[in-house]
Amino acid sequence: MKAKLFKNGFLIDGTGKAPLKNIDVLVEGNKITQIDHNIDVPERLQKEGVEVIELNGKTIMPGMTEAHTHLTWSDSLYIQDIDLKPIEETMVDATLNAEILLKSGFTSSVSAAARGRVDIAIRDAINKGKIPGPRLLANGAEVSASGSFVDVQPNHVRVHGLAILADGEDAVRKTVRSLFKEGADLVKLNVSGESLTAHARSEDTLYTYKEVRAAVEEAHARGKRVYTHARSSDSVRYCVEAGVDIIGHADFINDEVFEMLVENKEKHFVVPALNWLVSTLEEGANYFGQEAIDATGYKEGLEIALRNMNRLYKAGVRILPGGDYGFKWCPHGQYARDLEHFVKLVGMTPMDAIVSATKYGSQIMQMEDQIGTIETGKLADILVVDGNPLDDISILQDKEKLNVIMKDGEYVVNELKTTAAVENPVA
Ligand SMILES: [Zn+2]
Repeated sequence: MKAKLFKNGFLIDGTGKAPLKNIDVLVEGNKITQIDHNIDVPERLQKEGVEVIELNGKTIMPGMTEAHTHLTWSDSLYIQDIDLKPIEETMVDATLNAEILLKSGFTSSVSAAARGRVDIAIRDAINKGKIPGPRLLANGAEVSASGSFVDVQPNHVRVHGLAILADGEDAVRKTVRSLFKEGADLVKLNVSGESLTAHARSEDTLYTYKEVRAAVEEAHARGKRVYTHARSSDSVRYCVEAGVDIIGHADFINDEVFEMLVENKEKHFVVPALNWLVSTLEEGANYFGQEAIDATGYKEGLEIALRNMNRLYKAGVRILPGGDYGFKWCPHGQYARDLEHFVKLVGMTPMDAIVSATKYGSQIMQMEDQIGTIETGKLADILVVDGNPLDDISILQDKEKLNVIMKDGEYVVNELKTTAAVENPVA
């Protein structure tokens, strides 16, 4: 594979440092080997030649991480639909969603639950180069208490494609053990409710501390992690006390739990999945009627979530993008909307929103020394964006503007002209 020299870019390196103009980035194999003004083709590469990609001041930045992904939610209307869809169709949809995710500029992804073993099969196929997709941390079904918001079929209809119902510490341990046996990288635990399901409100806490702790013990004993759905204040408290690694939502926290999150900020990530709330409020009435959307309390819920995300952000808690995409009103492909919400609704600077999607992304992927920033020695997960996302963060949602998407040194997308010439041929 020829080395690639990106010439004359506007570098946002993902570390949070000020951007730099007129920067060249050299990629050899799957690694970034040099970053500088006006790089000459090194002698060792002159024989083979170097592919030059002229950026003309376009932005060059790291690939992003989507931190709350559901590949197997295939733009369904109702949560029940996810349960009822045959696994074979789900597998096809999830395979396509993995490609959509990658082609949206997200070169890494943390799954926040999936049907069956679908994530695991997709992760393995991606890693073997059989199908396109991001670097993926695979999850299993939603581990949930009976009566949870994903326990959605009537009791006489026993279909639980979406969830595994596990009540009590022993059942939780058994379920978590079996999910890791199947090859999951992490497990998902639903600790609070979710108001779109009428019988289990967001403010309700559905697992006990001991059940959460049991899951964490089993995961950590294997060097694995726990991802939770936790909206109510008590559910977030249990997560922090039990040592949960990735806390989803965390919106209804009181002052005491806020302080706990801040005190333990090195131990966990918060992924608020704001787009779920924003999209449901924007689009939900078209599908369910205004009355049903009002009944969810999401309007007040979003206000509370935004207030809390703003203070968590200011206190240095790592908040990552990832928006529960995969419903009709919140479809796959819009993942970068979460960065816009961070800037316009949470009050992050555009630079910090990018850092949350890149540097923090590498941390949640547990690949901090390999991805997430444009630095010498890192793997070449690179985006070229036509425009400056620091001026307008929403351009990251525009696939026309994602001129280059490179993962592990290989083009996923390349809309730019390349000249396959050596600039300084050997005499
Ligand atoms: Zn989710």
